[in-house]
Amino acid sequence: MIVLLHKVFLMTKTSLKPYNTFGINASCDRLFSFSSVDELSERLNEIDRQTPFLILGGGSNVLFTEDFHGTILRNAIKGIVVVQEKENTVIVEAGGGMVWHEFVHWTIQNDFGGIENLSLIPGSVGAAPMQNIGAYGVEIKDVFHSLDAYEIETGKIRTFDLPSCQFGYRESVFKRVLRNQFVIVKVRFELQKSGHHRLNTSYGMINEELTKKGIENPTIKDVSDAVIAIRQSKLPDPKEIGNSGSFFKNPILPNSQIEKLKSEFPDIPVYPVDENHSKTAAGWLIEQDGWKGYREGDFGVHQRQALVLVNYGQASGKEIYDLSERIIASIKDKFGIELEREVNIY
Ligand code: FAD
Ligand code: NAP
Repeated sequence: MIVLLHKVFLMTKTSLKPYNTFGINASCDRLFSFSSVDELSERLNEIDRQTPFLILGGGSNVLFTEDFHGTILRNAIKGIVVVQEKENTVIVEAGGGMVWHEFVHWTIQNDFGGIENLSLIPGSVGAAPMQNIGAYGVEIKDVFHSLDAYEIETGKIRTFDLPSCQFGYRESVFKRVLRNQFVIVKVRFELQKSGHHRLNTSYGMINEELTKKGIENPTIKDVSDAVIAIRQSKLPDPKEIGNSGSFFKNPILPNSQIEKLKSEFPDIPVYPVDENHSKTAAGWLIEQDGWKGYREGDFGVHQRQALVLVNYGQASGKEIYDLSERIIASIKDKFGIELEREVNIY
């Protein structure tokens, strides 16, 4: 009987609206959560491997442009363990299905430094390596130790160290060549004990926020609180307006191209990346091109943050995708820069 009910559950067509922060009302043929590797394995054995499937965490970096005709696997593997402790550092392992900010909060409560600048990023621990999440001058590659991932084809667990993840700017091997082949089940981070951690407050707004509060010698928690305050004041809350954060990546360009752009657009923001490349801000380009606050029906560009495309209620994923196409063409026309989407399109 239990088995029968279980099969019926697996067959159910499910709305994805509660499972993506854009709030897109697409559906999938089946959806299940797994809270252990054994459960993942069991469930995978029950589905037809020839039909499409997709691994989902918090759904905060996806755009469904149509119904998903396949199975969605939701990661619910939880748990935090300190796997190694040294004089100045700890290696902490977190389950891939944990809410990222809950993990950050735990590290701060334990006075471990390294991911305080990544406070309040939505989503799961398991998706964090997928695009090497980054904010306020820190990326997870800076504290990454290793991860365990379940290979869907073989059912084996493979461990990836830092080089094998091929992290780049909002990139990893999992977003490209190994896309949808591995489920990230555990991630390990090497964090610093508080007296040994160098805080990174180089990102202008953090210092401003600390000064505003009169904090001269910040703690790990002070930096986390500052990041939370800045984020809450600037970024749209998906609970209020559907969005997936930055829709496009910030373009990294050869310095020769940046120099030409600077002569035409002297105010263009430029941040050095390496000897030959610099980054400019996609949000600035979109704003200069007049898209900030654009709205048509229920889709548009956020009023305060031009890098964020939004769903005011009933927009379809296709409408948002088509808007992104128009923005890409428009930026190409004005600046000669080809914007790349950061959000994963399905
Ligand atoms: P999902 O959206 O569920 O999945 C994203 C991709 O990862 C999909 O392709 C999915 O198949 C894959 N995936 C998910 N889980 C796994 C797994 N366990 N194993 C293998 N593949 C998996 N990002 C930043 O980098 N910096 C920010 O500051 C930031 N701010 C944001 C602010 C807002 C308001 C929002 C809405 C988004 C923001 N993001 C930011 C984007 C997003 O939060 C991150 O990319 C986050 O890591 C996505 O996690 P998720 O669990 O929601 O992933
Ligand atoms: P912001 O501070 O207004 O800055 C705009 C852009 O300029 C950022 O995207 C940032 O690039 C770049 N920048 C600013 N100061 C910089 C510095 N000192 N060094 C290098 N680059 C600098 O950005 P924001 O939109 O409010 O976001 C703040 C942070 O949160 C950023 O790091 C951003 O990436 C992150 N964030 C990410 C998402 C997402 O979905 N990916 C969503 C919201 C916020 P970088 O993006 O490379 O840092």
